Amino acid sequence: MMSQTTSGPQPVVTERSPSNTWTVLDLLRWTADHFTSCGIETARLDAECLLAFALGIERVGLYIDFEKPVEAAERDVFRELVRRRAKERIPVAQLLGRREFWSLSLSVTSDVLAPRPETETLVEAALRYLPAAAESRVLDLGTGSGAIALALASERPQARFVATDVSEAALAVARKNAEALGLTDRFETRQGTLFEPVAGERFDLVVSNPPYVAEKSRPHLAPELSHEPAIALFAGPEGLDVLEPLIKGVGTVLVPGGMAAIELSSEQVPAMIECCGEAGLVEASSIRDLAGRERVIVARSRGTEGPR
Ligand code: GLN
Repeated sequence: MMSQTTSGPQPVVTERSPSNTWTVLDLLRWTADHFTSCGIETARLDAECLLAFALGIERVGLYIDFEKPVEAAERDVFRELVRRRAKERIPVAQLLGRREFWSLSLSVTSDVLAPRPETETLVEAALRYLPAAAESRVLDLGTGSGAIALALASERPQARFVATDVSEAALAVARKNAEALGLTDRFETRQGTLFEPVAGERFDLVVSNPPYVAEKSRPHLAPELSHEPAIALFAGPEGLDVLEPLIKGVGTVLVPGGMAAIELSSEQVPAMIECCGEAGLVEASSIRDLAGRERVIVARSRGTEGPR
C-alpha cells in the first residue's frame, strides 16, 4: 500500500544529484580500498562478492552494470556487510551464508569450516579411486558442511556415503546441503568421534579433512579463522591429535585394498607417511595442491592377496 505516513519535512534528495549517486564501480573502488587498508588480502574480490549479494545478482552482473547507480536501500544492506567484513573480520562465506566448492553452491554457517579451494585437491584425488560404475561405499570423517562427500556424490551417482562429525550442528548443515543438491538418498550422517559411529563397518574409500592446524600457530593466524569452529581447525600442539589416530585406525574400517585420502599440511607429510607404514597401510604418497604444497596423503589398506 502506498501511504504518506511520514510527518514533517523530508530532506530534499534529488534522484540524480551527483553527490548522492554511487555507482556500482564507485562502491567497488571505495570498498576495495577500504578493505585493503584494513589488511584484507582479497579486497576487490570480497567487495564484489558482497556487493553482488546486496544487489541480489551474480558477480558477473556487476561488470555489465558498472555505471548503474545503487539505491540507498541497497547501499544500506551493503554498508552493513562491509562493516562486518572489515571490523569484525567475518569471512565472506559466512556473510553470504554460501560458498562455491567443486561447482556446488553450499550452505555455510559458523558451525562449519567454509570449504577451502585446496580441499578440491582431496576430491580430485579421491575420484581416482572411485570407479564410475562401481557401487562404492565411502566414509567422510569430519564432514562439516558435507563438501567432500557431496562433491564426490555429485560425480559418482552409484556411490553411497556415510558422513560423520562430532558436531550435530555441523551435520545439520551437511544434511541441508545434501537436500538442496538432491543427494539425500545416498548421503547418511552420523554423529560421533572418529570411527565410533561406523564401528564394525567397512568402506571402499575413506576421505577426511580433519582438524590439523597446530595449536601453537593459533596466535599468528588470520582473524577470520576465529569465526570458524575451533574444533574443525585445531588439533593439539602440532596439529596431529586427530590425524594420528585417524591414520592408525583407518585400516579397521577399510575393505582389503581400500583407499584412504586425507588432507593435512605439508610439514606433517613425512611423519604421517611414516605413520601410514606403521599402521600397515601401503603405497602411501602425497599429492600437491594448486599452490604446489603437499596437501593430501593417500594410502591403501593391504589387499588379502597383497604382501604380508
Ligand atoms: N586448510 C585450512 C586452513 O588452514 C585448515 C583446515 C583444517 O584444519 N582441516 O584454513
